Amino acid sequence: MSAKILDGKAIALELRESIRAEVERQVAAGNDRPGLAVIMVGEDPASQVYVRNKKLACEKAGFNDVSEVLPAETTQEEVLALIDKLNADDKVHGIIVQLPVPAHIDPEEIIERIHPCKDVDGFHPYNVGRLATRMPQLAPCTPHGVMTMLEKTGIPLRGLDAVVVGASNIVGVPMTLELLNARATVTVCHSATKDLAEKVSQADLVVVGVGIPEMVKGAWIKPGAIVVDVGINRMDDGRLVGDVEYEAAKEHASWITPVPGGVGPMTIATLLENTMKVAYELECKA
Ligand code: NDP
Repeated sequence: MSAKILDGKAIALELRESIRAEVERQVAAGNDRPGLAVIMVGEDPASQVYVRNKKLACEKAGFNDVSEVLPAETTQEEVLALIDKLNADDKVHGIIVQLPVPAHIDPEEIIERIHPCKDVDGFHPYNVGRLATRMPQLAPCTPHGVMTMLEKTGIPLRGLDAVVVGASNIVGVPMTLELLNARATVTVCHSATKDLAEKVSQADLVVVGVGIPEMVKGAWIKPGAIVVDVGINRMDDGRLVGDVEYEAAKEHASWITPVPGGVGPMTIATLLENTMKVAYELECKA
């Protein structure tokens, strides 16, 4: 058996086209274009690629790109002052800070300074709390993008045994909350988890985000399981590799995401979706 491909790239494209069409409808009705500010501090090479992709997606969707690239020596106070300015600007609907930030910047204080109603990355404790209490408002883009991909593919989650490998604030924890809210039964694994292979082998659905190339072995995958690989690792030869041993895993799984072309495109499409939601739909309660 060889798994079917969870085609995040195609689903994301469709989502982006529908977002673009909605923006043009709104603009024709006299409303503003959604405005997204991506703040980048410093010149981390991977971040530069991510920010470029976000800006491009923003432009293609008909958004106003109000991004700011700040020099690496920018102070905490200067970043906070920029966020205050963007929080107060009615034309700016979404604000995100590209992580990682340089070591002298405290990312937690920065994230908390973004107004929860403009927090389109969904990292502010207010939005995490809403997701945890089953009243989601702006949910983190990568896990929410995974949910959209599974839903659009027609994969029901209710009652599945799910294993999430990785427990970061960006991927694993919000993924766990999303799956719990969809009424899967979720086991969360992290660096102190015992018998990872045994836990993964019990799962109907495995979502992996650890940042270690091919760490989850194909032989661990239960026959017929659904495999979602969030990992993106650039190898020395330039190839992009996920956190799952793809070739072997696809012989066991029923569905699997490729890397690249799986979760990555869904993350960007969901960022646009969240920003459009703030611009036209959200009655934000914070
Ligand atoms: P972090 O480094 O923040 O978190 C990694 C997580 O993996 C931690 O919870 C850590 O556990 C856990 N972990 C580390 N080693 C092991 C192990 N041996 N066994 C089990 N768990 C382990 O990474 P991120 O969550 O930010 O990113 C994870 C991956 O996802 C990366 O490859 C990143 O590039 C990718 N990514 C992809 C995105 C996309 O759009 N496709 C978006 C965001 C990230 P502990 O908590 O105990 O330290």
